[in-house]
Amino acid sequence: MAASDPAGRKPGLRTLLSHVGRAGKRVHGFVNPPVLRGSTVLVPTVADRQALAARRGEQVLTYGTGGSATHWALEDAIAAIEGGTRCYIVSTGLAAVTTPLLAFLKSGDDLLMPDSVYGPARAFATGMLKAFGVETRFYAPTLDEAGVAALMQPNTRVVYTESPGSHTFEVQDVPAIARAAHARGAKVMMDNTWGIHHFQPFQHGVDISIQAATKYLAGHSDVLIGAITVNNEDDWQVLHGAGRALGQYASPDDCWLTLRGIRTMAVRLQAQMEAGLLVAHWLRQQPEVAQVLHPGLPGAPGHELWRRDFTGACSLFGIEFKSNFTPADTHRFVEALDLFGIGASWGGYESLAIPTTGFITRTAGGPGFSGPVVRMHVGLEDPDDLIADLLRGLAALRSSGA
Ligand SMILES: *Cc1c(COP(=O)(O)O)cnc(C)c1O
Repeated sequence: MAASDPAGRKPGLRTLLSHVGRAGKRVHGFVNPPVLRGSTVLVPTVADRQALAARRGEQVLTYGTGGSATHWALEDAIAAIEGGTRCYIVSTGLAAVTTPLLAFLKSGDDLLMPDSVYGPARAFATGMLKAFGVETRFYAPTLDEAGVAALMQPNTRVVYTESPGSHTFEVQDVPAIARAAHARGAKVMMDNTWGIHHFQPFQHGVDISIQAATKYLAGHSDVLIGAITVNNEDDWQVLHGAGRALGQYASPDDCWLTLRGIRTMAVRLQAQMEAGLLVAHWLRQQPEVAQVLHPGLPGAPGHELWRRDFTGACSLFGIEFKSNFTPADTHRFVEALDLFGIGASWGGYESLAIPTTGFITRTAGGPGFSGPVVRMHVGLEDPDDLIADLLRGLAALRSSGA
């Protein structure tokens, strides 16, 4: 597909997702690249084998872990969605977090992570990375450029970001953080799972972008997969080298399912963004609710930064209930809901609700609120039905006589 027309106009997301990652002759012209499974690739001579080995990292068939047309189609698609040059697919979203951390850090280095980071990323930093001699310091997610600059040490090699934050949805000033990091020669990583293409990481100073493609990219709650995208050849060499060294890879079946999910992602995301904002708006007007943590809502925390840097929202947000309610009250709230399932993960076509008060860890300050919280994921159901369901939930929340 041409990157732009003569007037320099870039294709819209719906156009992009219909055309990226087509494998053409590589897959005999089939529109959707079929699943190509395999480990060993046979060649006629030893010289052919040596020639192939020298082309490691290119999109040529060498061995199963070097990928196949199915795999490369997905990598090309996600690189285009993120606006980067190359993407490396791994087995889970968490592997997409840990692989670049291992690639760009070594013993004696310092890592800065936002206090609102995805829990398993925090656990990896304070567990395995610590054991390997990497120190992690957690910073308040809303720090500005001067705040991050003041934290930089000569051995700070990576400044990690995730915006909005897991469970608490703080929007980070990523361009400002990136300026502070780059001034001291550190790499900027971002978990961009919430923003997807609505946040273009490489236009905002990010060097390495992480996607839990398990979420909206796959979109059907039936795949675990992760993607790491970079924007230059040097970073690709470091990332790809570490990924291969760690044996990180994803199955071609999961790549195929994810590529299928991507074809409809723009319309799913648009419908889910609209429904999510509608439900969030309705929730904000309910007397039991202290605030709705949805950066796309005018007046919500982080809304101004979101408006500056994002072109849209997904449908994951938080509710803080008034502080006269307890976490146990929120358990009754989610259990009374029929259409919202109680479950981890998000980004599928179905709605979810989960109490999150116990998941919030803070070592660099408080989260800025005190009521119990629930995380909501709005799926593709009719918003009116979801609101009717939420009325049931709110009645159950109140039923303790609080
Ligand atoms: C879910 C999630 C991940 C991990 O994805 P898995 O595929 O479940 O391993 C990473 N980052 C964020 C922000 C997530 O929500």
